[in-house]
Amino acid sequence: MSSRRGSLGMKSVVLSAAIAVLFSAGAVASEHKTHDEKHWEYGKNGPAHWEEFSKTCGEGHAQSPINIIPGKTLSISHEYELHLDEDVHTTAGVIDNGHSIKVTPKTGGKLEFHGETFHLLQFHFHGKSEHTIDSKRYDLVAHMVHQNPLTEQLAVIAVFFEEGKNNPLLDNIIGNVGKTIRIDPQDLLPEDTAHYYHYIGSLTTPPCTENVQWYLLKTPVSASKDQIEAFRKYYVDNERPVQELFDRQIEAK
Ligand SMILES: [Zn+2]
Repeated sequence: MSSRRGSLGMKSVVLSAAIAVLFSAGAVASEHKTHDEKHWEYGKNGPAHWEEFSKTCGEGHAQSPINIIPGKTLSISHEYELHLDEDVHTTAGVIDNGHSIKVTPKTGGKLEFHGETFHLLQFHFHGKSEHTIDSKRYDLVAHMVHQNPLTEQLAVIAVFFEEGKNNPLLDNIIGNVGKTIRIDPQDLLPEDTAHYYHYIGSLTTPPCTENVQWYLLKTPVSASKDQIEAFRKYYVDNERPVQELFDRQIEAK
């Protein structure tokens, strides 16, 4: 009995070793391909091909962005109401990361909902809004990416921009790509942050990770035509098409 078990054990060790070799060879090959030959982007390897970089991008059922139909929203439950505290004077690095202009504050602000705290990690822009409201696409959007350090869950605030008057914060950012600036992330927010849409979605770029808490502020901020054009000199088509809602509910306040 014991020797039979022993030989079975040996067989399974050999088999798992063989599987491990197969898998590691596959992993090396695909890693090599991803890192050295192909990069996700918005052109030839655009959103329709992102599944090749991460299966979730193609197979996920809770993907972002989405189109929001205001008439089909539910009112938000009290515990998911958003409490923003972004008033932090800090320095921040501004970089062109190849997909967007990204601003990384040294010490970010924070937000709270559901009794959890999320810290601002970075914010970045898309040349048109990724989410649409009643199919309307805004002129520009900022995504403020926050993370709960305990669970590592992400929460993203979307701030929509409409063409209008000059936005001083945007001048500071677009004029200082590659440099460090002084900012207060609160300057990015509209005056009214009490009205928003909320749902659970994903990152809008590979690896398209799900379980991201999205809060889309209803009130847009303004940017001048020149500023929108200045941003679009960097990135004009860096928005992912809207994804299927499937069985998700959108909440609103
Ligand atoms: Zn984004």
